[in-house]
Amino acid sequence: MTKLKIKKQVWKIGIPLLLAIFVGCYLGLTMYKEFKYKQTFEYKLIEHGYTLNEAQELLNFYKEDKKIAYILEIPKNTFILEIIKEKYYIHHNLDRYLSYKEEHNNIENKDIVAIVNVNRDYDLYENIKNCDLEKGNILNVNKYYTLPEDYAPENLKNIGLQYAYAGNKITEEANDAYVSMWNAASEEELKLIVNSSYRTHESQTEVYNNIKAANGQKAADKVAARPGHSEHQTGLAIDVFEIKNQATSTFKDSPAYTWLKENAYKFGFIERYPENKEYLTGYSFESWHWRYVGEKAAKIIQEENITFDEYYAYYIENQA
Ligand SMILES: [Zn+2]
Repeated sequence: MTKLKIKKQVWKIGIPLLLAIFVGCYLGLTMYKEFKYKQTFEYKLIEHGYTLNEAQELLNFYKEDKKIAYILEIPKNTFILEIIKEKYYIHHNLDRYLSYKEEHNNIENKDIVAIVNVNRDYDLYENIKNCDLEKGNILNVNKYYTLPEDYAPENLKNIGLQYAYAGNKITEEANDAYVSMWNAASEEELKLIVNSSYRTHESQTEVYNNIKAANGQKAADKVAARPGHSEHQTGLAIDVFEIKNQATSTFKDSPAYTWLKENAYKFGFIERYPENKEYLTGYSFESWHWRYVGEKAAKIIQEENITFDEYYAYYIENQA
């Protein structure tokens, strides 16, 4: 065979062979890429029914694999894409947001998050948990968190007679803060006065049982906390009025109340049962009931205009 013939032979076999190798590699690589893509959450979310944009949005939001894996476990629901945009969204409440939405379609997403976060998707006094006693000034007591019968705060101090009626006690730190607040109010010609503060479990039991005996449990639940559920047992709550305005019915219209609303947080106090927030707190509006939580928590609660229950759910429990 001549050299030329050999060359021709090489071209005849070599070129198609190279081409075949090239195509083979290309196909293999494509298949491999596809195989790899099918392992991704993006692909799985799309298979689950989400669009590419929705899948990417979910992936951007849920940085953790186990959270995305959970989204894949539940039926596709585009409401998830709306609810994750809410500031106080808490992932472990997702199931409850979804159920609440199903039953209450006309409620705003912001409220769905707030209601579920503070457990108001449960009936009052349902699913009761023990209070976290390690939380100090931000101890949360409400209709879903209960204090042990024998719980009494440390460092209880009598509030001075200049600032309160006789026999009133709160924790030393709350007392110092209250005195500072009292002085600041006094400069505005407002004389604050505390008429109720720390109550023992026993005294709360008495209050509650008397009403219950007279008017039944439903009526008692409307006006008094069940024993173990009163914030007054923490030594961090005060019922505060102003010398000239001491009626529960009108205190809300007094200059003292307006002053407290604007200034109490600077001293670490917050309005615990605000107007129009009964659906979150489980308590009717109590303009006189103020709670010491410390300045850091009070500032957030004031600035974000949220209830203590919402604050506790999002900033404390959820971050723990
Ligand atoms: Zn009170």
